Amino acid sequence: MAFDPDQLQIVLYPDPVLRRRARPIERIDTLVRRVAHRMLELMHAAPGVGLAAPQVGLPWRMFVASPSTQPEADTVFINPRIVAASRAVADVDEGCLSLPEVTVNVRRPLAVRIEAIGLDGRPFTLDGRDLAARIWQHELDHLNGVLIIDRAPPGDRLANQRILREMERTFDPDSAATAPPPPPRGSAASSAAGISPGTEAEPTPGRGSLTRGTGQQGTGHPTGGGGAGELR
Ligand SMILES: [Zn+2]
Repeated sequence: MAFDPDQLQIVLYPDPVLRRRARPIERIDTLVRRVAHRMLELMHAAPGVGLAAPQVGLPWRMFVASPSTQPEADTVFINPRIVAASRAVADVDEGCLSLPEVTVNVRRPLAVRIEAIGLDGRPFTLDGRDLAARIWQHELDHLNGVLIIDRAPPGDRLANQRILREMERTFDPDSAATAPPPPPRGSAASSAAGISPGTEAEPTPGRGSLTRGTGQQGTGHPTGGGGAGELR
């Protein structure tokens, strides 16, 4: 095993791993399962309601979430994609475990539909709104190297500037991994399990009031622009 998942810790801004675009996980093996469990452990200990793999130093497309903070609500999302978003948006203050003390008011769609692969290798689709939808979008941002400070309105940017400068000043570059481990590569078994990117199941038609989009396949980017379907 390339590293011990039990040793993973939450990394802080401005660790460069937080700015990398994470790569798809092609094979769900013991290492991925152990990393996911360690991420859930770190998230609950923080305490937080979501944690993305880059936040533990791994540029992998995986995040964990627990909107109710109860372990029963724990969900692991591998290679997630937001495939539909509501036109309605909400402005809500967000924090981030990699940016302690920073709060940013972020505008995001109120409701989204997300597709991902579970730890069991099965694709699933979830519709969420309010807190759940917000967590998913926040964590998906992490997989694309996007932080809440990038989404801050100008006022919030100023308010947080002192804290950010201080974090940049005290950051030890030697603490950052120079070559973070890549996600496990695929195998014949993984494609049979539907793990390969682009083979996820289509969203179930006819549920809710989803309007299919213009045919553009999601690339893991959060919606907010065109392309994705609409969820009202
Ligand atoms: Zn975060």
